[in-house]
Amino acid sequence: MEIFKPLDLTKEDQNTDIENIEKVRCLILGSGPAGYTAAIYAARANLKPVLYTGLEMGGQLTTTTEVDNYPGYPDGVTGPEMMEEFKKQAERFGADIRIGIATAADLSGKKHRITIDGNKIIEADTVIISTGATAKYLGLEAETRYAGMGVSACATCDGFFYKGKDVAVVGGGDTAAEEATYLAGLCRKVYMIVRRNVLRASKVMQDRVLKTPNIEILWEHQAVDLFGDNGVEGAILVKKKGTPQEEQVKIKIDGFFLAIGHAPNSDIFKEYIETDQVGYIKTIPGTSKTNVKGVFAAGDVQDPHYRQAVTAAGSGCIAAIDAERFLAEL
Ligand SMILES: Cc1cc2nc3c(=O)[nH]c(=O)nc-3n(C[C@H](O)[C@H](O)[C@H](O)COP(=O)(O)OP(=O)(O)OC[C@H]3O[C@@H](n4cnc5c(N)ncnc54)[C@H](O)[C@@H]3O)c2cc1C
Repeated sequence: MEIFKPLDLTKEDQNTDIENIEKVRCLILGSGPAGYTAAIYAARANLKPVLYTGLEMGGQLTTTTEVDNYPGYPDGVTGPEMMEEFKKQAERFGADIRIGIATAADLSGKKHRITIDGNKIIEADTVIISTGATAKYLGLEAETRYAGMGVSACATCDGFFYKGKDVAVVGGGDTAAEEATYLAGLCRKVYMIVRRNVLRASKVMQDRVLKTPNIEILWEHQAVDLFGDNGVEGAILVKKKGTPQEEQVKIKIDGFFLAIGHAPNSDIFKEYIETDQVGYIKTIPGTSKTNVKGVFAAGDVQDPHYRQAVTAAGSGCIAAIDAERFLAEL
């Protein structure tokens, strides 16, 4: 005789014991340029968007000072100021901006259920994922000490500030090779700090690096510290670490660029949403549509190539228009 039957709860059943379910037409996750732009467009299209900011209100740009390449600011603007203006503009059209983090997602049904802060469920007709990507760092204390004072994870964003100076790029993959060649066009000298004795970058990118006269590859080197009184003035490296030939090397540089990859913030969606190997959400080219109907992705979370504020904002606009058309067709 069977006395106990194991509980067989589907995800929907599990969710119903949380009383707090709110229905919305358009839910936007993330408050960077992509999320706020999506909110501006969705609000103006009367979708009554609800936006959850995540931990970092305003996104990555709130961690930088000058933003010089966003059109419309001829004198430049600081990242936090610019994102505050994005927020105000979204609020002007009635976007409901809330502090909270998406902690789980159930995208198996027609209505998409997103759990916020582990205790509130939003049931949304459309979801725009604009949760960004986080640059990877080496984990050195010096990276924090010199944040915004010579340490950067974006050559396109910050390279201009190092015109005519000497810089180092850490990494040996395609991104590192791209960043090094980009910086070589601006800087006097670019050191590439490569842990192994080969580059992981594609053959084409390797050739480009090797043919650029002002790039010097420091093979089998690892950065262990940075020094300088007013910002980065140099780096301490270890050559052939852990071998009998191990030696310490000092280089003089003004900028230290990390190019060892990014981690897209897509983990909670991966059960349902297709991503590439790294975790970038795949969208149908030219659109923001994911493989799940009614779920769209915008900004760095779906962009392994450009990762700029203006491209993120552009894709946020696309996502809101895609969401509006999806709802109109229902
Ligand atoms: C130091 C630095 C300087 C830069 N300088 C420039 C520059 O000068 N010019 C330029 O064009 N670009 C610059 N960039 C790049 C630019 O910041 C990014 O390309 C842009 O911010 C991407 O926008 P996004 O909206 O896709 O994501 P992000 O700005 O990364 O925002 C992601 C948002 O998602 C939220 N989030 C994450 N997980 C969750 C979750 N589970 N639930 C809810 N919300 C979540 C976060 O809190 C955040 O608000 C810089 C980047 C850095 C790090």
